[in-house]
Amino acid sequence: MTMLASLAALAPDPTTAPFWDACRRRELRLQRCADCSTFRQPPSPGCPRCGSARSDWPLLSGRGTVFSYTIVHHAAVPPLAGDVPYNVVVVELDDAPGARLISNVLDAEPSDVTVGMRVEIAWDEVRPDVVLPRFRRAGRG
Ligand SMILES: [Zn+2]
Repeated sequence: MTMLASLAALAPDPTTAPFWDACRRRELRLQRCADCSTFRQPPSPGCPRCGSARSDWPLLSGRGTVFSYTIVHHAAVPPLAGDVPYNVVVVELDDAPGARLISNVLDAEPSDVTVGMRVEIAWDEVRPDVVLPRFRRAGRG
């Protein structure tokens, strides 16, 4: 499955820039509250649990489990017509309790994707300045 680079225009702001900067280094880092350790995904200026504005960005393993998924059969925009059907997954990360990442499993046919499927990060450089965190089935090299 390929997704068009033209659809991957990012507009990071000061809150989300650390996530995308880390992706460019092929590091999966999610925002975590520096006071109560709650992960915030998507990132936010303040902690929804304790209100703290302090955060850090720990390096994660990139391994996780498919929590939910859908198969997209209808291209929402014409440039995606060549990509359907494709999967959209919600991944629970092993080392970021409570945080879920919406992404795709690159090496899975629609019928392969299951809840509970083990996945690992597969960096997808769609443009030199845009690296997206996608996934592949775990243990397949
Ligand atoms: Zn907090």
